[in-house]
Amino acid sequence: MIIVLKENAPQQAAEKLMKEIRAKGLQIDVSKGTRKTVLGLVGDTSVIDMEHVQGYDYVDKVLRVEEPYKRASRAFHPQNSIIRAGGVEIGGKKLAVMAGPCSVETPEQINGVADAVKAAGAVMLRGGAFKPRTSPYSFQGLREKGLDLLCGAGRHAGLPVVTEIMSLDKLDEFIKAGVDIIQVGARNMQNFELLRGLGKTRIPILLKRGLSATVEEWLMSAEYIMAGGNHNVILCERGIRTFETYTRNTLDLSAVLAVKRQSHLPVIVDPSHATGKRWMVEDLAKAAVAVGADGIMVEVHNDPDHALCDGAQSITPAMFSHLMDSLRQLAPVVGRTV
Ligand code: PEP
Ligand code: MN
Repeated sequence: MIIVLKENAPQQAAEKLMKEIRAKGLQIDVSKGTRKTVLGLVGDTSVIDMEHVQGYDYVDKVLRVEEPYKRASRAFHPQNSIIRAGGVEIGGKKLAVMAGPCSVETPEQINGVADAVKAAGAVMLRGGAFKPRTSPYSFQGLREKGLDLLCGAGRHAGLPVVTEIMSLDKLDEFIKAGVDIIQVGARNMQNFELLRGLGKTRIPILLKRGLSATVEEWLMSAEYIMAGGNHNVILCERGIRTFETYTRNTLDLSAVLAVKRQSHLPVIVDPSHATGKRWMVEDLAKAAVAVGADGIMVEVHNDPDHALCDGAQSITPAMFSHLMDSLRQLAPVVGRTV
């Protein structure tokens, strides 16, 4: 971090600021120009509140030369991280394909979809039990019962499971039910209490990008979880909100590249929520893999037209099987396996 002092900064004030910074364990390289003084801070600058320093009237500018995240940063961990969950590796050469319905609805539905996606080659079963719906009058998920049905279906099909948590008071139930990856949904990406609580566990967390989150904000949310000691974070790009209304969201594939450059954490892509359109899912899943995503998360429903949630973007088991065949052809071209 660099602090540029104004031309007329009083010496006494500058010294007080330097004392304040040194008290936080940092070193300062002072460079006095003819007009301005520049302070170069050396050490862990995450303890410095930029806005606070910028607030002093004798400070001209405060510039960050490093990212505000450390544990999530590639600078501190150059090699790709591989996260292990329920016997599956996410972030290695093999693509992690997670599939299942938006919501768990009935035993027949979740068991049927679990068996179908397993047969087609998925390595993980997804399914929502606690649903973050825009309307309080929409189907909210089967809640605890959904959790049990999902975990039961996963065990039966031989697939680890991923499902969304909305509040920490359900954490014990998620653990007891045997959830392998806990999903933090887009709407909760900046629920810092939730992130902090999940940081105390060692359960792998799938952190979806917020609807209007920048790459830096997304990585700062990962940092929240990691700062608590839980380094098992998987990122998921699921589309962001733009002016475009043709699709439900806009899939930001450049963010996959940005995040991979900035961070060592694995990144997967969810083309279902990104588009809201069933017919776009396969092609965008291929695009995600081509650009370097470590896997995909896709909504699959046995009867999408009657799904209780997100039917328009859900593909059928037959379409999923076709998607897997396409990925099998594409994967070797980009150095991956399925
Ligand atoms: C989901 O995965 O069903 C979901 C609600 O996703 P998102 O948080 O990305 O909207
Ligand atoms: Mn959904």
